[in-house]
Amino acid sequence: MDIVPCEVCDSPINRGKRCRQCAAIHDALSADSRSDVTAITAAMRNSLRDGLFWCYYTGLPLVLDDSGSPYYRSIDHRTPGDRRDLVLCCLFVNEMKGDLDEAEFRSAIRALAACFETGQPLNLGEVRFQYRKRNWLGNRRSCGPTLKGISGPIVQEFVRSGMTDDELGGLLEEAKLAMRAEHRDGAG
Ligand SMILES: [Zn+2]
Repeated sequence: MDIVPCEVCDSPINRGKRCRQCAAIHDALSADSRSDVTAITAAMRNSLRDGLFWCYYTGLPLVLDDSGSPYYRSIDHRTPGDRRDLVLCCLFVNEMKGDLDEAEFRSAIRALAACFETGQPLNLGEVRFQYRKRNWLGNRRSCGPTLKGISGPIVQEFVRSGMTDDELGGLLEEAKLAMRAEHRDGAG
């Protein structure tokens, strides 16, 4: 019987490609991520040291048997959508990374840390959330039209008319009553 090394951990096996433990983890990661099988093997190999799998981002040992743990093993696509560029990392970091690529994620975390430390508004710089369905500016300069932007033309019209506040109030009240009357007539 041929003895070959497990393609992940190199321990001797006499059939298949992976030892029982590596096969179980490989199968689970495969099912979770629908990623390239060879890339998962490579990610596992890169993550393995001293008999443990380690998180690519945090350097912490990954939990293999408790899916409720924040340190549970998961597959991260370093670039969202690229099924061949994979690393193993802990679940909570993977969840935070979301659909950012690695460079964006690191930038976003640094910016967030600065925001927490200084109390200044978040400055995401070049993070553009390019893998989200819509493109977003890293720096949110506006939250859509401002109140001033919306009311500006009305205010200008009011100023131009030379009307006093009371006159305007009266005008609006008249308009309201007229509208109500119209509704009543329409309904009747
Ligand atoms: Zn193995």
